[in-house]
Amino acid sequence: MTECGVCFRHCKLREGQIGFCGGRIARGGRTEAYHYGRISSIALDPIEKKPLNRFFPGSRILSVGSFGCNLRCPFCQNHEISWSEEAKRFALTAQTASPEELVSIAKETRSRGNIGVAFTYNEPLIGYEFVRDTAKLLKADGMKAVMVTNGTAGLAVWDELKPYIDAMNIDLKGFTDRYYEQVLGGNRRQVLAFIEAAVKTCHVELTTLIVPGENDGEEEMRALSQWVSRLQNPDGTGVPLHISRFFPRFHMQDRSATPVRTVYRLADVAREELAFVYTGNC
Ligand code: SF4
Repeated sequence: MTECGVCFRHCKLREGQIGFCGGRIARGGRTEAYHYGRISSIALDPIEKKPLNRFFPGSRILSVGSFGCNLRCPFCQNHEISWSEEAKRFALTAQTASPEELVSIAKETRSRGNIGVAFTYNEPLIGYEFVRDTAKLLKADGMKAVMVTNGTAGLAVWDELKPYIDAMNIDLKGFTDRYYEQVLGGNRRQVLAFIEAAVKTCHVELTTLIVPGENDGEEEMRALSQWVSRLQNPDGTGVPLHISRFFPRFHMQDRSATPVRTVYRLADVAREELAFVYTGNC
């Protein structure tokens, strides 16, 4: 059996077996990215859509996704490529691109405002080898590498990536272990450790999706924003927090969209601690 050390799940896999996330496989006594270079989606997006509001504002970034995820958020907006049954079909149908091909597309779109590549839509950390190899080439060409991630990986993975990643939006989905473990199938402590390590070398912005009845209490937002206020980005400024509105999706259809006033109220609570607070989906 081979144990995967990428995230807290530590999947134990037989030779050729694919892990819980659908993105890693045991081969030759170690695990590797099963979906290396497999692209399920590609788009040239405004950087603010990642969302990153304080990293090259007004620019665009070539955004690419693969498939698979190591969390199980029941409301996932990208379930077609993350963890639904449909996501599995991308293992058969996704196009393949080498890091060189992707960088070439990124360079071709420079004239349209593109500054680099964002690894997004599904969870990029489960396929960190492709991110690392592509980001290395981007850096050599003076372009930027961005990740949009749930931050659920061990620090050894971040050590592989950090010389090449310029910015990240990391989900900090809530601030209780109950929510992370029982609703999302995640591990809050691993995410907090990942964020603390990331801000040392990389521009970080955080996103919290407010789900009614789960993480919409003022006390939780106060505790979350107090923790964030202790962090600083490499340029010495505070870490921005994006607070966004939930809509019923996928397996979570039992509640209404977050009231806009709740998002605004929680943003005001966060502003008691933080200089940069943005609201989304309102
Ligand atoms: S990255 Fe995937 S295979 Fe590895 S431990 Fe996490 S869920 Fe399992």
